[in-house]
Amino acid sequence: MDPKMLKELNQQIQEETYSSYIYLAMAADLESNGFKGMATWMQVQAREEKIHADIFLNYILERGERVELAAIQKPPSSWENPLTVFKTAYEHEVYISGRIDHMVKIARELNDNATYNLLQWFVEEQVEEEANVGEAVQQLEIVGEDGRGKLMIDREMGARIFSVPTSAPYYPKPGQATGV
Ligand code: MG
Repeated sequence: MDPKMLKELNQQIQEETYSSYIYLAMAADLESNGFKGMATWMQVQAREEKIHADIFLNYILERGERVELAAIQKPPSSWENPLTVFKTAYEHEVYISGRIDHMVKIARELNDNATYNLLQWFVEEQVEEEANVGEAVQQLEIVGEDGRGKLMIDREMGARIFSVPTSAPYYPKPGQATGV
C-alpha cells in the first residue's frame, strides 16, 4: 500500500476512537444531568465508533501493513445543554465525513481500489450518521426550553439498541485480533 494512504488509514483509527471517546463523555454528561435516554443513545453511538476504528485497524492488518496508534486527545467533560451536545456531535460528524471524502480522493489518485471500496461503506454510513444526529438537533430545537418536550425526546432516544453492523466490510470476526 502507498505510505500516504496507510498514514491516512492509521490516522482514521485515531479519529474514530476519538469519536467514541467524545461520545462517551457526552453520554456521561447527559446522564449526570438526568437525560438517561439520550445518554443511552450516546453510549450506543460510542460503541459504533469503536467498531469503525476496529474496521480500519483490521483492514490495515488484512493488507499486511503495520498499525500505528496515535495519542487520543482529552474530550471536553461538560456541555451547556442537550442541544449543545447534539450540535457538537453533528459538527463532529460533518468533520468525519470530510475526513472520509479526503481519503476517497487519495485512494482515487493512487488507484487503490481496495481502499476505495472500503471507504464506500463509510461514505454511506456518514450520510446516516449526519441524518441521525441532525434529527436529534432538530427535535431539540423544536422543544427549546420546554422541559416536558425534552423529557419526551429523552424517552424516545432511550429506545435505541446497539446492533452489530455485520454488513460492514472487514468487520473483525471471532478469532481475529480485534474480534469478540
Ligand atoms: Mg464513525
